[in-house]
Amino acid sequence: MSVNCNRNVKFIVDRMHGDLARWLRILGYDTLYSPNLSDYRIILIARRTGRIIATRDRGLVAWARRKGLKAYIISGVEPEEKLGELAQYTHICIEFDPGRTRCPLCNNKLVKITKDEVRGIVPPKVYEEHDEFWYCSRCGKAYWIGSHWRDIFSRLERAKRLTS
Ligand SMILES: [Zn+2]
Repeated sequence: MSVNCNRNVKFIVDRMHGDLARWLRILGYDTLYSPNLSDYRIILIARRTGRIIATRDRGLVAWARRKGLKAYIISGVEPEEKLGELAQYTHICIEFDPGRTRCPLCNNKLVKITKDEVRGIVPPKVYEEHDEFWYCSRCGKAYWIGSHWRDIFSRLERAKRLTS
């Protein structure tokens, strides 16, 4: 893992970027996303909470910058392209850290739970095949690194390549 990467940044993303929000959360970045936020609310929240704005809206970026806020245009289509762009601007790490990951649905910090604790909660096959589990206390949802993670990890590698 790069020692120079920035771990302590928070984001607010606008309605075009729900996929980017989920990826940032998986990587452990505190990310606010609500499809119904107006530009005015986004500016207000970014100002109050020190969040970096990621958007497709050039008007919003210009407005935010006039207010002294950090805001970036995201032009990529695939989530890994968006992540790569944002990483170039903000020097965030594109590394999955099992100790920092957040719930992709609600942004809550996930906690590691033991295999014993998920018995009967996750499907039997999942229980048999995995040893690492996380839990979101807000959603009541358990997570594990399932087969679709092969795709996630390869997309993260692609996002990393896009930043170099
Ligand atoms: Zn959650």
